[in-house]
Amino acid sequence: MSDSAKPLPYGRQTIDDDDIAVVVEALRSDWLTTGPKVGEFERAFAAITETAEAVVVNSGTAALHAAMRAIGVGPNDEVIVPAITFAATSNAVLYEGGVPVFADVDPKTLLIDLNDVQAKINPRTKAIVAVDYAGQPCDYPSLRAIADQHGLKLVADACHALGAKLNGQSIGGLADLSAFSLHPVKPITTAEGGAITTNDPALAAKMRVFRNHGITTDHRQREAKGSWIYEMVELGYNYRLSDLQCALGINQLRKLSAWTNRRREIAARYQGLFQNVPGIEPLLTRDNVEHAYHLFVVQIDPEIFGMNRASAFQALRTRGIGVNVHYVPVYLHPYYQKLGYAAGLCPQAEAAYDRILSLPIYPTMTDQDVDRVVENFADLSQR
Ligand SMILES: *Cc1c(COP(=O)(O)O)cnc(C)c1O
Repeated sequence: MSDSAKPLPYGRQTIDDDDIAVVVEALRSDWLTTGPKVGEFERAFAAITETAEAVVVNSGTAALHAAMRAIGVGPNDEVIVPAITFAATSNAVLYEGGVPVFADVDPKTLLIDLNDVQAKINPRTKAIVAVDYAGQPCDYPSLRAIADQHGLKLVADACHALGAKLNGQSIGGLADLSAFSLHPVKPITTAEGGAITTNDPALAAKMRVFRNHGITTDHRQREAKGSWIYEMVELGYNYRLSDLQCALGINQLRKLSAWTNRRREIAARYQGLFQNVPGIEPLLTRDNVEHAYHLFVVQIDPEIFGMNRASAFQALRTRGIGVNVHYVPVYLHPYYQKLGYAAGLCPQAEAAYDRILSLPIYPTMTDQDVDRVVENFADLSQR
């Protein structure tokens, strides 16, 4: 297959020979899981996000679950989440017996709409979870002001946004807790994995107990103390991240800034080229944002482009362009419909859902690949 015919995925991991070498080295060490690499990865992750503490877990979903437990979400507590996100954001609220309350999104950025957040606050509201959709940080200073005014906790679902900054400050310390995913399509990967960052050591300590069955010490700490006694103090889970994965994560983190820079170059190239394709509008980037571009999302205006999103999706996939859609508004999933959430709840999110396409973006993508994606759009618009 010639290179130009090779299908382009919407996202993919970057694994170099040195990533393979560190995993092999970890495999030959004394620790396959919960060894020295866990603390090392946590310190590196905290440093890169400019936070006091990072707690690593085995998925972004586990990170969100740990965050909900740490802030004390319980039965009937309402948690405000945006309608456009991956289902794990609101599922984490349900895991703890809470009630997800969906807020609409800004139609230009698809970030949570602050007016709708305020409209949905009531005495049962416990927290706000903001999602840094596509890798763009939300307006945390305003969210913080709203949360403080009503005594709410503020959580960032930063699963798209490792490497992003707002007003020069790294994502990770902008909310009470920030959750990250280390899935292969995300900014760096440990195959499966996640992390929560915070500047509150007490919350970090709670989450370390939660990820280990609710037990207050780990195997390695007991071995060091020469003791077999352990205490389980709450109902936790096995959400531990292995030493193998932490070894990979430490090595991947070193490359984050180069990879983020490449994503920004790709996004800038797309933005330039799409100026000449009427009816294709990239999402807006807010001022003072350094975007992580986990996704590059455009909205299609079917009247101007001459083709709707569903048809464009099919046509592009047929041409080997791995477009995708992020996301169906969560409450439209059958499970949420069964819980009683009705269509029409968040009109901007539903309207955007009909127009969005995520285009290929990943650090090893070439300029020629970007050009090929845009040429295919231009070609379709002329049919
Ligand atoms: C990927 C993702 C998650 C879940 O992360 P996993 O590591 O796949 O469990 C949660 N929220 C958002 C917004 C995500 O993109």
